[in-house]
Amino acid sequence: MIVGDVLVLNATYEPLSVVSVKRAVVLLLKEKAEIVEAAAAKLRSENLALPVPLVIRLVYFVKIPRRISLPVTRRGVLSRDHYTCQYCGVSPPRKHLTVDHVLPRSRGGKTTWENVVTACEKCNGRKGSRTPAEANMHLLTEPRRPRYIAIAALSSSEARQAWSKYMWE
Ligand SMILES: [Zn+2]
Repeated sequence: MIVGDVLVLNATYEPLSVVSVKRAVVLLLKEKAEIVEAAAAKLRSENLALPVPLVIRLVYFVKIPRRISLPVTRRGVLSRDHYTCQYCGVSPPRKHLTVDHVLPRSRGGKTTWENVVTACEKCNGRKGSRTPAEANMHLLTEPRRPRYIAIAALSSSEARQAWSKYMWE
């Protein structure tokens, strides 16, 4: 039994959802989807050998009624930033990572994907209630809202890598 999650892309290559490997295989066998990225491992049964899908693409376009909301969470911010301090680039144990408001909350900064970044305790302390410019600190990457599925299931590093191309707006 293969455990894992498969990223489903719309016909336009936009991320749509995350499904189980089992569900993905059903879509593939019914020719409703095609494999875009696959793992090295193979799924085997009596009369079938199929690469384990990591990313599949629907053959037919599915209309998305509205943008799905993605709440900002500590776990989400940390995984978006690859557990790396966005000021100095260190990757300490997770418990030593904090979520920093780029424009501090005390200055009206909101908790949005575009205004929060992962920071190590040292950088967060150093920055205090200043903006990066005031503290003479620079962000390694501009914080963005990830695709809603980006955080959904970071099951394996192989999947994460295969998904990363499709994660951003
Ligand atoms: Zn740091």
